[in-house]
Amino acid sequence: MPLTPDQISEIESARATPRHTLRAVSEGMEAHLYRAHEVLDHGFVRVIDYMGDDGAIVQAARVSYGAGTKAARDDAGLIRYLMRHWHSTPFEMCEVKLHVKLPIFVARQWIRHRTANVNEYSARYSIMDREFYIPAPEQLAAQSQVNNQGRGAVLDGPEAARVLEILKTDAARSYDHYEEMLSQEGKQGLARELARMNLPANIYTQWYWKTDLHNLFHFLRLRADRHAQYEIRVYAETIARIVADWVPAAYGAFEDYRMGGATLSAKGLDCLRRMLAGEAVTQENSGMSKGEWREFEQLIAGN
Ligand SMILES: Cc1cc2nc3c(=O)[nH]c(=O)nc-3n(C[C@H](O)[C@H](O)[C@H](O)COP(=O)(O)OP(=O)(O)OC[C@H]3O[C@@H](n4cnc5c(N)ncnc54)[C@H](O)[C@@H]3O)c2cc1C
Repeated sequence: MPLTPDQISEIESARATPRHTLRAVSEGMEAHLYRAHEVLDHGFVRVIDYMGDDGAIVQAARVSYGAGTKAARDDAGLIRYLMRHWHSTPFEMCEVKLHVKLPIFVARQWIRHRTANVNEYSARYSIMDREFYIPAPEQLAAQSQVNNQGRGAVLDGPEAARVLEILKTDAARSYDHYEEMLSQEGKQGLARELARMNLPANIYTQWYWKTDLHNLFHFLRLRADRHAQYEIRVYAETIARIVADWVPAAYGAFEDYRMGGATLSAKGLDCLRRMLAGEAVTQENSGMSKGEWREFEQLIAGN
């Protein structure tokens, strides 16, 4: 279970004391504040704080004195224009602070997104919880034969059981040894900062992660993509749903131009134009490599 009864009661009491404010408020985001959205077997994402709403984006774009809103339709149109033309700084006016609980191997991918502020749970100071990510059977898959950076067929019953057993036994043994090394009953014991080093990468960590909407969209574009590793993708998809409630116009533009849209190279654009003119374009006369052509075909076929 990701949250203890005490933690749930802390969240409920934080939600029970709303305050009057002059700041921009997004009703969609208010509904999410502090609540934990469960992800994987022990993880979660919850919004701790946010700044701005769709109006804040147009307000900054127009460098306006007031709320900056003419009409919701005009605002949405301007936001789409900004997204379409990569005018990104107005999106940086919105910020969000998340509390995330995630396995360390997911955190390794996540932390590569440098344009955020992070504060992680200290395993030098505190003792790690006995919580490990153990994949659901449908996520236990063999190495992909076509993609070196991905998984292929789901493991069959006996093979899934065999690897699950290894994962569970290793996690339990590592944690037992961790506790044994920390123990100071009649022994010197080992410092927390050293004892943690035998813990596996599927143990859960936690952090506060703060970023702006422009960089969050960049993160979502890469990590909510269907090619992203499942274990980080489910976090990105959870955040994407929250963002859709927070800034619906900006998220709509992002979905249209970034998540659902595609970028073509000059060669790809030329091939598309030739195809539309009725020419039979093949990889041989496209000017593209085999890999580029395969991806181009997938793109126009919608695969
Ligand atoms: C499918 C996939 C596979 C990947 N595989 C690998 C891998 O095998 N090995 C690996 O190491 N990483 C890998 N990565 C991580 C990837 O290389 C990026 O580090 C990660 O996606 C973060 O992207 P970013 O740098 O654009 O984001 P951020 O760090 O958030 O930066 C956003 C933008 O700010 C600018 N920026 C930020 N910091 C700097 C800087 N110091 N100097 C210059 N510009 C800066 C850049 O324009 C950057 O695009 C992979 C990512 C994906 C999505």
